[in-house]
Amino acid sequence: MNPQIEKLLEVQNLDYEIYELKREKAKKPDIIDFLKKNIDDAKSQLQQAKENLKQLELERKRKEVELESKENEIKKYETQLYQVKTNKEYSSLEHEIEGVKADNSILEEEIINLLDKIDEIASVVKEKNEAVNNAEKEFNNRKKEIDLDTKEIEQRINKLEANRKEIAKDIDKGLFKKYERILKNKNGMAMAKVVDGTCGGCYINLPPQVENEIRLGKIVICQNCSRILYMEDT
Ligand SMILES: [Zn+2]
Repeated sequence: MNPQIEKLLEVQNLDYEIYELKREKAKKPDIIDFLKKNIDDAKSQLQQAKENLKQLELERKRKEVELESKENEIKKYETQLYQVKTNKEYSSLEHEIEGVKADNSILEEEIINLLDKIDEIASVVKEKNEAVNNAEKEFNNRKKEIDLDTKEIEQRINKLEANRKEIAKDIDKGLFKKYERILKNKNGMAMAKVVDGTCGGCYINLPPQVENEIRLGKIVICQNCSRILYMEDT
């Protein structure tokens, strides 16, 4: 193998590792965003449950005030019972009292139903509160983990890049520039192995003289995908 191509292959191996590490690193902010969104979702559900609870409490209060005023009404009628002069007035008042009492028993039932609902929603609030705490806890734990991972990836990349620089010193500058240009456009893979007359980068059949040229140590570029071609020594 052309010694320049051999060196370039060493760089390529490092570059592909660097490329993969950078991709992995780029995913980390997405994970953090996802975890943040979980917190926001849990918080908005908690807010909603709290709002429901508040509305139910207001309704309960309103009905209790109404019940109290109706009970006062009954008391007022009952005092009047002692003051009426005729049977007709008496029975009409009694009728009035019965009506208010019937209203009240409906009100009382509604209040009991509301109390049940309030209990239910109060436990939902508690649940949602726990969900917020859990989401925050998970975020904090995972964030630490992710920050650590990211730091490790960065250190690994730095090491590989230093290594790469060292090897690149022995490569012809023009060839290396060409290689880097291709690398940028080819997802971390600027070189392609020729296998059975086919380019390992784009799988096109190469003209027959390509293999001969490579054997003679020439630098050959795939006419289809522009990668630098190489062959394993047999
Ligand atoms: Zn190709």
